[in-house]
Amino acid sequence: MRNSPWVYVLALALLALSTSAFSQEEEDWSKIQLKASKVSGSVYMIDMVEGSGGFAGGNIGVSVGSDGVVLVDAMFEPLAPKILAVLKTLSGKPVKFVINTHVHGDHTDGNAAFGPTATIIAHANTRQQLLTRGQSPEDQPVPAHALPVITLNDELVLHQNGEDMRIVHFPHAHSDTDVIVFFPQSKVVHMGDIYFSGMFPFIGRGGSVKGLVAALEKVLGEIPADTRVIPGHGPLSNTQELRATLAMLKETSAIVEDGIKRKVSLQRMIKDKVLAGYDKWAGGYINTDQYLEQMYKVLSR
Ligand SMILES: [Zn+2]
Repeated sequence: MRNSPWVYVLALALLALSTSAFSQEEEDWSKIQLKASKVSGSVYMIDMVEGSGGFAGGNIGVSVGSDGVVLVDAMFEPLAPKILAVLKTLSGKPVKFVINTHVHGDHTDGNAAFGPTATIIAHANTRQQLLTRGQSPEDQPVPAHALPVITLNDELVLHQNGEDMRIVHFPHAHSDTDVIVFFPQSKVVHMGDIYFSGMFPFIGRGGSVKGLVAALEKVLGEIPADTRVIPGHGPLSNTQELRATLAMLKETSAIVEDGIKRKVSLQRMIKDKVLAGYDKWAGGYINTDQYLEQMYKVLSR
């Protein structure tokens, strides 16, 4: 078994994590079960059956129709046969396009399986970072057929299955490679890792609190209130929950930023439990202390 996917999963974990999902040395792909659920209109979501993996792959958005299948994200390459099996229950058409929401391996590793027959679309930085990934000793080079062949800087519209899918870049949010995919006819949006539903957010390399807040505000200002929201991780969501996450992000970052301004140390803030009121957002992949540490580091950059 290749060990690289696990490295990508670990890239998600900024801190030393002790949750069970991260304690295994390698993922046992055979244990992971996938399921498809209808989201709205012609859009579906593929995610893990509860308890079978959690963070072993980002949620996939699926557009089906007469033109073919369009995927938003591709999980890990070893899961591709399971993804294809689930897709068979939704459509008899082949996968025509794969859109990557950002560079992280739990969303792009599957490109290697779909790339030879489908067209991969991503932000220019995603392609660039996949190209140079092989330079780091723990990462493996991405084969040419797994690279995006169409890239965008700001926005691109993909007209398929009667849907005008808007692929829009949001700078320095979860990373510096993020796009959000809007399905206006079906009233669905795929947020990528700019949104973890019900959980503290993760801000990776190239990301920022400011960019994350700006992205959530812009999306909430644009989409109708009854839009269904596919998160990068976590269960299918809605604009109400998205709004609650934005409020939590603003409040918690303001608390930590205020402490930094007053030169309060991270250890002191952890001891004082300054984010104690936000424990209900813990438990996804990170506890409240770990989130506080992440916030402190990101806001101190
Ligand atoms: Zn990510």
